[in-house]
Amino acid sequence: IRCCVAAGCLSSNALAVKTGLEQAVTEAGLTDTVQVSGVGCMRLCCQGPLVQIDTSAELEHSEILYEKVAPDQVSAIVATLQSQTPANTPTTLQQGDLTQPFFTQQRTIVLENSGKIDPERIEAYIAAEGYQALYHTLYEMKPTDVINAITHSGLRGRGGGGYPTGLKWATVAKATAERKYVICNADEGDPGAFMDRSVLESDPHRVLEGMAIAAYAIGSTQGYIYVRAEYPLAISRLQIAIRQAQRLKLLGSQVFDSPFDFRIDIRIGAGAYVCGEETALMASIEGKRGVPSPRPPYPAERGLWGFPTLINNVETFANIAPIIRHGADWFASIGTEKSKGTKVFALAGKIRNTGLIEVPMGTSLRQIVEEMGGGVPDGGSAKAVQTGGPSGGCIPASAFDTPVDYESLTQLGSMMGSGGMIVMDQTTSMVDVAHYFMEFCRDESCGKCIPCRVGTMQLHQLLTKIREGQATDVDMELLKELCDMVKHTSLCGLGQSAPNPVLSTLRHFEDEYRTLIDKP
Ligand code: SF4
Repeated sequence: IRCCVAAGCLSSNALAVKTGLEQAVTEAGLTDTVQVSGVGCMRLCCQGPLVQIDTSAELEHSEILYEKVAPDQVSAIVATLQSQTPANTPTTLQQGDLTQPFFTQQRTIVLENSGKIDPERIEAYIAAEGYQALYHTLYEMKPTDVINAITHSGLRGRGGGGYPTGLKWATVAKATAERKYVICNADEGDPGAFMDRSVLESDPHRVLEGMAIAAYAIGSTQGYIYVRAEYPLAISRLQIAIRQAQRLKLLGSQVFDSPFDFRIDIRIGAGAYVCGEETALMASIEGKRGVPSPRPPYPAERGLWGFPTLINNVETFANIAPIIRHGADWFASIGTEKSKGTKVFALAGKIRNTGLIEVPMGTSLRQIVEEMGGGVPDGGSAKAVQTGGPSGGCIPASAFDTPVDYESLTQLGSMMGSGGMIVMDQTTSMVDVAHYFMEFCRDESCGKCIPCRVGTMQLHQLLTKIREGQATDVDMELLKELCDMVKHTSLCGLGQSAPNPVLSTLRHFEDEYRTLIDKP
């Protein structure tokens, strides 16, 4: 019996469900044949706590999912195991449908172990082929072979920008320096985004393995995971995973008894959104105030403490071991011509199925929203989807046939971003959406440069004026002019992309602005 113990289900009492299941199994005398495992995210977060009967059980109950399980229902679940027939499932238990498009249209690479293995047991990860890729890398591949494989796979950074991962690794590998660093950016801060948290809570060893392979490829002996303090469960599971891997010599000195040494330490961020920007993140690790610096120099040339540094995000590292295990050609065969592999999205907002999905690049927004997401509840219709968080934009329902890939979303005035996907229905005011995201950027601006510090404040004031019906055509012109100025003169990505939600809502929903301005 697998019981989800990721943050979503834990927040709806999953721990009591798991403890109750363990007791019920003991009381029923089934401990020899039934094991209760706490596992990572099962993805359909809106229906938690989720409990699944493992398909490997020698019972006829394979592929059964129970939703919204209450602690007083655990005996009924255990009783179904004894009854030997799923038809006897008590009606009080809510059975989920594993054949619905939410599950069947997903293709899991990053989330392949999520909801299946116990994230606090390294044995479970090893049994699922974990650390095989690292072993293969150390004993059968030269560092250049690893970089060639990652380049050939077509993997692009999943943190938002979509920079080719192999190219970044090759740049750091070429640099000659006494030390090099590998950093995993786990400072996920976009409103509505929880992909990285979920990967760390569900399968932390996968990220450690990806980092170790990267370290071998570029010649590094020290890595850091920069994770926000708001993710205590992810931090605790990472700490457990690092200790376990060190104990088995899969991290630390002489990994797998080879000459390769690699140590990973965790650095906890204090919650500033701007620390997700790589130069600010490195300043924070160095113990300085987390504010961005001008680039160049890029981290690949001069990064942490002045040494060449490779920074990738959680999802990027989570893709590395499968690429090495299955080959670059396999990975490159998934997705579109320029966007390879899959992408994990956090599906939220006005949608029936909220949770985590992983789909091949090129899947249409319509498929995600209407089929996998189950559409808007209560007969409503989707009006737009916001992707890319405060740096992204809103895509109208008329463009839902757009394939999800880096280029297509950018053409529509949005961006892939790290993977937040918020669905809005007809009751949502797009001016309110732009106002909300501008407030977020104004609050999170570090204040180092004037265009962002003052510009986001003035943009927020203008949007407030528009919402309140006090604005004129002159204010609209000023809004557009300021967006342009902030976008092109801010120092870092936060300011450069802060106008995007305004620009995309103006592009696709200008009539909503006009209605408020032309109000008599
Ligand atoms: Fe700070 Fe904004 Fe300037 Fe970035 S753009 S350095 S967040 S003030």
